[in-house]
Amino acid sequence: MSEEIKIEDLNFVGGDNVKITIADLDPKHESQWCPGCGNYSIVMGVKNAIVKLGIDPKDVLIVSGIGCSSKFPHYLKTYGIETIHGRALPVATGAKLANKDLHVIVVGGDGDGYGIGMGHLIHTMRRNINLTYVINNNEIYALTKGQTSPTTPKGKKTASTPNGSIETPINPMALALGGGATFIAKSFSGDIEHMSNTIAKAIAHKGFSIIDVAQICPSFNPEMNFKWYKDRIYNLENLEDYNSSSKNWAMIHALESQDEKIGIGIFYHSDSDRETYIDDLPEDKELSLVRQDISNVDVENILDNYE
Ligand code: SF4
Repeated sequence: MSEEIKIEDLNFVGGDNVKITIADLDPKHESQWCPGCGNYSIVMGVKNAIVKLGIDPKDVLIVSGIGCSSKFPHYLKTYGIETIHGRALPVATGAKLANKDLHVIVVGGDGDGYGIGMGHLIHTMRRNINLTYVINNNEIYALTKGQTSPTTPKGKKTASTPNGSIETPINPMALALGGGATFIAKSFSGDIEHMSNTIAKAIAHKGFSIIDVAQICPSFNPEMNFKWYKDRIYNLENLEDYNSSSKNWAMIHALESQDEKIGIGIFYHSDSDRETYIDDLPEDKELSLVRQDISNVDVENILDNYE
């Protein structure tokens, strides 16, 4: 049975001499999110994780797609790219392959990640690219004013399904287990401490980590409010048989009905250091590509071949 990963046991990946505070991560921009939106606390969770791990903000890249939560890079003072709908993961993969020393954190919504971005998600998981993906899952398309998303519960009435959705929603934890992610967790935007610790553990994990965060959207999914979640959420890590190194154990809890009870915590993490994609790239073995000496590379010969 696996031990719970203790936040105090994590290595300070930025090194002992990096001392940063939350204020170092504060941007100049005013947030455009609605009052009460769960995205505010998820930003706080990511900031806390960066501070807990002592990572210099210049070594962090936040990549997002399109959606309410994809405004995320504007609200942290790190490097950031807001890309196009569903395409955050390929951009993040490219950045990580070019500079493996960067801590790349991808943030987006359920529509962005589990809808149009689904193909990229599956392939990033199976490749075990060393990224952290935080999915702000409010179970609705919010930016476009309340349509059914891939995680909207069956039967829920939305702007696009006024008689109730007839689709079975995606189960993010079961999907990630099947896809080969090596760190799989769920958290809740109403529990900043749990989110901060879980995101820190995910960033410290070597390999692809995914955290699906149940996010409150008071504007377009008001029924699933703080009380609705609090009545259903329990912490997996308090279970007597907690065993996040077993995929079978994790799948049993992933398949529990999302409506009746919602487990939060780390469902699964690989104890073995499975090779990441970059570990197997001969070009990337020693130095990041961006740090390699290219003064002897003659591009004219290469370009001549395309004349
Ligand atoms: Fe947040 Fe929902 Fe408003 Fe978007 S619509 S900013 S998800 S509360």
